[in-house]
Amino acid sequence: MKASAFSYARATSVANALELLVAHGDKAKVLAGGQSLMPAMNLRLISSELMIDIGEIAELRGIAVSGGVLSIGALTRHVDLLRSPEIAAHAPLLTGAVGHVAHPAIRNRGTLGGSLAHADPASELPACMVALNATIVVRGQTGERRIAAEDFFTGIYETALSAQELLVAVEVPAAPKNSVCFFHEFARRHGDYAIAGLAAQAIVQGSLFTDLRTAFFAVGDRPILAKAGAKLINIDVTPAILAEALATLGKELDPQEDQQASAAMRRHLAKILLARCAFALLDRPDLTAGGPV
Ligand SMILES: Cc1cc2nc3c(=O)[nH]c(=O)nc-3n(C[C@H](O)[C@H](O)[C@H](O)COP(=O)(O)OP(=O)(O)OC[C@H]3O[C@@H](n4cnc5c(N)ncnc54)[C@H](O)[C@@H]3O)c2cc1C
Repeated sequence: MKASAFSYARATSVANALELLVAHGDKAKVLAGGQSLMPAMNLRLISSELMIDIGEIAELRGIAVSGGVLSIGALTRHVDLLRSPEIAAHAPLLTGAVGHVAHPAIRNRGTLGGSLAHADPASELPACMVALNATIVVRGQTGERRIAAEDFFTGIYETALSAQELLVAVEVPAAPKNSVCFFHEFARRHGDYAIAGLAAQAIVQGSLFTDLRTAFFAVGDRPILAKAGAKLINIDVTPAILAEALATLGKELDPQEDQQASAAMRRHLAKILLARCAFALLDRPDLTAGGPV
């Protein structure tokens, strides 16, 4: 199938894109890498009278580190994240996660901003941003808003962005030197959307987590920063403590059922992921006794 007819405008700057968005309101759509938008248009799940192509706006590109914060432009492609030495050094969770996003052809065009604005609950990068405590920077004609990643995702394909705003950048606190991370997803094939996944960043001192942020994806209507993970901080994680955290996780998740998995299966897989995360990051194979791994 082909998309219904639309007009096309290439924005020359962020200011120009915002002018076009305000002038055309709900009739316009922002086009970045097109890897989610164009398939949806071709399937006629979405229609738009005007496509505003932001792909040539240089100020939306690039990765910079300053004052302990990584700033990543919205048009940074998945492949740029994968190859960036700055990302590998300061946000290794992203380097590990992005190879699971689709396939090389899609990673060559798809952008970070597009992935976050699209807000598929099964996407890897939104969950990483929640785990990394990132800030999403959005701009409208009246100025800039900075939104914690945890508050940015509001539902299935829904975010705190208004139709007249652009996502311009993401700011990620550089990972502390002693931090460790964990990324794993269950998918039918490598590159498919996850059936259940976990992105986590932690600080381990001695045998304890002194910080642990666990963001689950594909097990709810948005990335979920699990309270169960916080139960493992500053405590000797015995198999019994882990079992309690897994029980908490089971109660706090509300996964969807679809052709890939039942809600119960997704909840079960999420528990496996949390148990694996704990024993991998604490280097405690004995924790396998605490849960289904
Ligand atoms: C076969 C296939 C497999 C895929 N597998 C995965 C996968 O495993 N994991 C995964 O996460 N994704 C997957 N995707 C989806 C895709 O990789 C991402 O959603 C995509 O990269 C989004 O980025 P984009 O630049 O292409 O966005 P676009 O498609 O251009 O835009 C997506 C949406 O975001 C909006 N938007 C884009 N940029 C901005 C901005 N700066 N400000 C405001 N709104 C904006 C657009 O208006 C649109 O609504 C897959 C896609 C395909 C076709």
